[in-house]
Amino acid sequence: MTEIISKTRHGQGRNCVITRRACFSASHRYWLPELSTTDNSNTFGLCALAPGHGHNYELIVSMNGELNRDGMVLNLSEVKHAISKEVTTQLDFRFLNEVWPEFDLATPQGCLPTTEALARIIWKRLSGHLPLIAIRLYEQPNLWADYLGNHMETYLTIRTHFAAAHRLARNELSQKENEKIYGKCARPHGHGHNYLVDVTVRGSIDKRSGMICNLSELQDLINNLVVEQFDHTFLNKDIPYFESCVPTAENIALHIADLLSNPIKSIGANLQKIRLQESPNNAAEVYIETDNLTANTNTLLASNTY
Ligand SMILES: [Zn+2]
Ligand SMILES: [Zn+2]
Repeated sequence: MTEIISKTRHGQGRNCVITRRACFSASHRYWLPELSTTDNSNTFGLCALAPGHGHNYELIVSMNGELNRDGMVLNLSEVKHAISKEVTTQLDFRFLNEVWPEFDLATPQGCLPTTEALARIIWKRLSGHLPLIAIRLYEQPNLWADYLGNHMETYLTIRTHFAAAHRLARNELSQKENEKIYGKCARPHGHGHNYLVDVTVRGSIDKRSGMICNLSELQDLINNLVVEQFDHTFLNKDIPYFESCVPTAENIALHIADLLSNPIKSIGANLQKIRLQESPNNAAEVYIETDNLTANTNTLLASNTY
């Protein structure tokens, strides 16, 4: 009896996901020896410049397991030690192209140390030590990769922003009716937000370039098809789609998904998710490939917004 109570109190045997954050600073250069200077520069842009450039990386390690009798999935000091020994101590203040054999471009197996390739290799190095379920690696606050242990498949997210005004009202309804539904958001002259947009793509990492798709091409698509179109507009009047469709956060997220889905396919990746944050208090997420109500790893990705 005492044992049962003690187990209940400490949650022993019940499942829990835990995360641990670690940081390191490192430099890298995107340069493939088999390409000419021009081709390297055209493909990788400024990232091809010698001798390289650096980032302050932030690593989030997610682990899953049953609670032990001490009420922990794992002892955090052991988690900290494993991450430090296997990853951060080896990478901190290093030139990534030279630090691990996986990035040795002189060998045919070597690949560029991109965010997505690095996330995958960090998983490989930690998986023997920790019960991993996800690795998230931020290269900077506006660019991160998620790896869930599925061969070469990785998720890459770019965060961007635009400022725009809107008014929430259905054309066929009276002002009074609209105010009943949308409150202050239905006021006749609109109001504005600084929107944050997270575009998540899924794809297979190229064995040589280490990329899901060309990063600058992806950034250009998002800039040209979304940011340049929406920034500093009154959405209801300047964007034809919203003349008849109420520009709620949900509808804007869906429209962005529709605008980007096929162009992202054409550069070799798949649009997985759009997250539109309208204010610190509300956001809308649209899953393009899966039903977001299905309990799967995507739910984890959704909740993993730090
Ligand atoms: Zn870089
Ligand atoms: Zn609003």
